[in-house]
This record gives sequence, C-alpha cells and structure tokens, in this order.
Amino acid sequence: MPEFSFRQYCSVCGNKIHHTIDVAIAPEMTRSEVICEKCQDHTNMLLTTCPECKEAFQYFISDLDFAEEVQRLSGAYVRLISGIRNSLKEVIEEFKVPVPKKWSVGLSCTCGNEFTAEIPLPQLEENNE
Ligand SMILES: [Zn+2]
Ligand SMILES: [Zn+2]
Repeated sequence: MPEFSFRQYCSVCGNKIHHTIDVAIAPEMTRSEVICEKCQDHTNMLLTTCPECKEAFQYFISDLDFAEEVQRLSGAYVRLISGIRNSLKEVIEEFKVPVPKKWSVGLSCTCGNEFTAEIPLPQLEENNE
C-alpha cells in the first residue's frame, strides 16, 4: 500500500497534526483515526488512492466513524428485512428485497482518472430452508 504523509489542522483547537498513513488502493478504502495531541479530539478519516497513478490520495473526514455508521445502519436494515422475511415465511413463498452490496462514491484524480471507492455492506443470508 502506498504511504502518504500529510498535515492537517485540528478542527477544534487548530493544532497542526502531522501523520503518515498507509492508504489502500481504490476501490478499497482505509479507515483511520486521527487524534489531536493537544485536545484529544478524534477525527475519523476514510482514505483511498487513485488506482491509475497511485500518487494522489483522496480522503473524507468526519466526526462520525462514517464507515462504521454506514455498516451499522446497513446491518440494522438487513436484520429488519430478515425478520420480516421470517415472519412471512408461512404466507409467501418468495421474498426478495434488494440489499445494496456496497456503499460507493465516484472520485476523480488530478491525473484525469475517474474511479470508485467502496465500503462493503452486510448482506442478507440466503434462506435455504
Ligand atoms: Zn485539537
Ligand atoms: Zn491518479
């Protein structure tokens, strides 16, 4: 995995944070957490590298652990659907609900390449009873 060093400023206290992260190549994403030494503020980051030039990286910052949230919500949705499916088992033979396989985002790199980064989501288990 390519390694990137960069600097950013803490959104809470303005402290300069310098860090080095191994970044996955798209469509895979790396999750990282940055902690400010001064105020202990946590920032969650999602990072990915352009698969074409492997020289530029893109990142998303949020206070929430975004990947975790997306997976948690999607997991709740999948459990809800499988609950409904089980309760309707006697009534209907086939119950199909499309569940998104992944969360994805389209990105474009300074090299001109356009690519997609993804977060895999929990899937419904096949019901083979
Ligand atoms: Zn800070
Ligand atoms: Zn590129």
